[in-house]
Amino acid sequence: MAERTRLVGHAALAARMGWASPEVARTMTSVAKRRRNDGAPCPGDVPAPDGYDKQGSHKIPWWYEDVIAAWDEGRPRTVAESRDLPDGQKTCSRCGQTKPVSEYSGYADMRAGRSGKWRLHPKCKACRVELAAEWNGKNPERHNLAASKSNKKHRRRRRANEGRGP
Ligand SMILES: [Zn+2]
Repeated sequence: MAERTRLVGHAALAARMGWASPEVARTMTSVAKRRRNDGAPCPGDVPAPDGYDKQGSHKIPWWYEDVIAAWDEGRPRTVAESRDLPDGQKTCSRCGQTKPVSEYSGYADMRAGRSGKWRLHPKCKACRVELAAEWNGKNPERHNLAASKSNKKHRRRRRANEGRGP
């Protein structure tokens, strides 16, 4: 029986996939692992390592090349790779689909030093709607509270604007 080729370590995986650095492989492996642990794996996730080699106190993950090749066949592109997508396209971090940027909402990044830079959400609008519905379903009290606050705010605005019309 022919020996199966193994990709040992993140550098080997990155080289096989044409990723910029072992860091990309490390990030994608840990994101995939976290999502598997959360019971919410995505189709673009790197498969779990087929084994680990011990090097002193370190465990080096490895994958069978044919397993990675099979996964690479039909997988959607993931966020870590999406920087080289054509202009106007973006890959959703939740559903893994590549969609036009018009399918993503924007927001002003107010973190320190970002000075309100306009950015796109990592998740597409459809996913954000689904997530919001899920959240509202799980937190009905907080959802109702937020909705009633928002209604009050708009009522105040409507009243303030009354009589100002043409
Ligand atoms: Zn999505």
